[in-house]
Amino acid sequence: MVQNCCFLCNQSRVFPAVIRENLITMQNYVYQNRDDALRAKVGQFELGVCPDCGFANNKKFNSSLLSYDENYDNSVPSAIFTTYYQEIATFLHQTYTLDNQLVIDVGCGKGSFLKVLTDLYPQVRGLGIDPSYEGDLCISKNSNSSNLHFIQDIFKQEYVTEQPALVICRHVLEHIPQPTNFLKSIHTALSGFPNTPFFFEVPDLSWILDNQAFWDFCYEHCNYFTTDSFRVTLESSGFNVEETRRVFGDQYIWARGIISDIYNDTYQGNKNDINHFINKVKTYTNTENKLVSKMSERLRKLKSQNINIAIWGMATKGVIFVNLVDPEAQLIDWCIDINQKKQNCFVPHTGHQISSPEILSQSKEADLVIIVMNPNYLDEIKLMCHNLLLNPKFIDANGKDI
Ligand SMILES: [Zn+2]
Repeated sequence: MVQNCCFLCNQSRVFPAVIRENLITMQNYVYQNRDDALRAKVGQFELGVCPDCGFANNKKFNSSLLSYDENYDNSVPSAIFTTYYQEIATFLHQTYTLDNQLVIDVGCGKGSFLKVLTDLYPQVRGLGIDPSYEGDLCISKNSNSSNLHFIQDIFKQEYVTEQPALVICRHVLEHIPQPTNFLKSIHTALSGFPNTPFFFEVPDLSWILDNQAFWDFCYEHCNYFTTDSFRVTLESSGFNVEETRRVFGDQYIWARGIISDIYNDTYQGNKNDINHFINKVKTYTNTENKLVSKMSERLRKLKSQNINIAIWGMATKGVIFVNLVDPEAQLIDWCIDINQKKQNCFVPHTGHQISSPEILSQSKEADLVIIVMNPNYLDEIKLMCHNLLLNPKFIDANGKDI
């Protein structure tokens, strides 16, 4: 039974919006052979949206369908992404006193952000905590001592043994079925260190809606935040927000502030903004099927003109996209990703093979269209094509020339 009660504000007018009957559950799982990929698990997705606070989550989320192991890989080895990490690291170092202090990254993944932060600022000490972390538990970034430590576990109070200068939590809250409970556990763990600053980041649902990005709803993300609902979630859990910003081409939102004893249950966001957002959700939901079929039709037409089709970017966006527009793997010639661990592997559920950019040289006799899954990487992709002596036409995932 789908409940109509909002998990965040307890109002009971939650309505169903985006629905997927069979959504692959782990789009970043790497399959070494096609048969295993074709048997990839699928789950139900029903985005319930609360018109009172704007909180949105998958009402049919079942965490038992997810299992993270060594074949899971959501890394993006792009210079654009590293540049983004450097920008955040610089901002944080300018905003807070971090030298010779401890920065804790809750849910640090492979520790990429902490590594960038301590590369740029070797005087900062970092502690990353994540059950999926693999790698050295101790890394030295300055000559004096190890200043980067990792713990392969879920976040626990016992791991906080001194006052941190900053607690970071990036791209975690969208994965947690009970985000306020999770936030409260961080709050409790830091109760001995009052007024600790925090910096949290999540994807922005408004960007998905504004850009009609039907490929951006994924099973791994059970929660979908706007600036307003992100703020409500934080404030009601004792995280007092001082500033929010939309970043990374507006695809992400970050919030920073102070972890305090004030639980602001009354903060409800701006009513006009929420109403505007709800109208946006309804408009998007009504047009979504047309968007998917229009893109499939576009690809079918290109195919009939003997034009080669490649898709670039087989992380979340590319994998969901091919599952929606080319589920039988009949239209797209090549799926490209620069992550070497994904190359020669297979897309879950459709079985498309993932290749390195070099394979596109096979298209030289034919026209080539490249669908760029994330416009933030367009310049990098164009440069790589130029180096391969390719002159393709580039379109975005809605078929627009870019
Ligand atoms: Zn609500």
